Amino acid sequence: RLIAPDPVGVVEDAQDRAVRPKSLGEYIGQPVAREQMEIFLAAAKGRDEPLDHTLIFGPPGLGKTTLASIIANEMGVSLKTTSGPVLEKAGDIAALMTNLEPGDVLFIDEIHRLSPFVEEILYPAMEDYQLDIMIGEGPAARSIKLDLPPFTLVGATTRAGLLTSPLRDRFGIVQRLEFYAVDDLAVIVARSARILEIPMDEAGAREIARRSRGTPRIANRLLRRVRDYAEVKGDGEVNADIADRALDLLSVDAKGFDHLDRRLLLAMIEKFDGGPVGVDSLAAAISEERGTIEDVLEPFLIQQGYMIRTPRGRMVTRLAYQHFGVPMPSDERS
Ligand code: ADP
Repeated sequence: RLIAPDPVGVVEDAQDRAVRPKSLGEYIGQPVAREQMEIFLAAAKGRDEPLDHTLIFGPPGLGKTTLASIIANEMGVSLKTTSGPVLEKAGDIAALMTNLEPGDVLFIDEIHRLSPFVEEILYPAMEDYQLDIMIGEGPAARSIKLDLPPFTLVGATTRAGLLTSPLRDRFGIVQRLEFYAVDDLAVIVARSARILEIPMDEAGAREIARRSRGTPRIANRLLRRVRDYAEVKGDGEVNADIADRALDLLSVDAKGFDHLDRRLLLAMIEKFDGGPVGVDSLAAAISEERGTIEDVLEPFLIQQGYMIRTPRGRMVTRLAYQHFGVPMPSDERS
């Protein structure tokens, strides 16, 4: 699947690294987050203090990791990266934090998946830069306190609601990333094409942008696949026609939905009469994990107005019926 997040620990390929923005100036779109971060970063730098702990949430591929590394770059410090599920024991996080230099950024991806033990170590570390850990077991066990250098914790999560409230409350800055407008994605695609030396016209960039599910990571991946197509089936130049044909081949439709988006919407229409249907029944119907529906599929489909969440479950809207050319049940009756 094109929008699956890169597995933890897998080194990104060189092209991904080449196109990843390194400064706030290169970070396209997200006007609210960008303007706020400009101010907070300048203020922290002016006071010669580390930036306040920052929580970034938003669906996969919208630029959370990128923003964390920009924070470190702009502050002139190093970035240490880890993720919630890999920190199993209190000692894992303790080892990371005692290795920080003053001012460093510690980035924890999927921070909602921290174990409760690890989360408890984080509280005093975030509040007072103090590490409070138990060593030994049984009667010989004792707790030791260590001072940590001041640092900035940047946490990323797909949904803010997944975090425990004591953890959420310890972040001084909270940024919510939104799906990107087509105009912004077109700028991102054009920029990546320039860096990767892919010849492309403006209409080509727009076609890829329109079909990227509001997500820069998808835009960059589609760009690479469209380039392949242009090199094999065309003269190497990406234009709207080449992009259109390549994306059809990849079964990305005119709205940017891929086969999973379509499967979800069609299952709701065909198996559940449009809903309301619970997310677990939907997950079973399309053989996907509930988390994929909640984190990846439905945020975009809801934002685009193809489905809604009600207290009784998910429902598709008229737009979804129109998209597939299926008459709405109420239309048939009337
Ligand atoms: P997340 O951590 O939210 O899953 P990433 O930060 O890894 O997403 O972003 C995925 C890719 O999208 C990055 O490699 C980067 O090249 C691109 N990207 C993300 N946000 C932006 C942006 N605001 N401007 C330009 N490119 C971006």
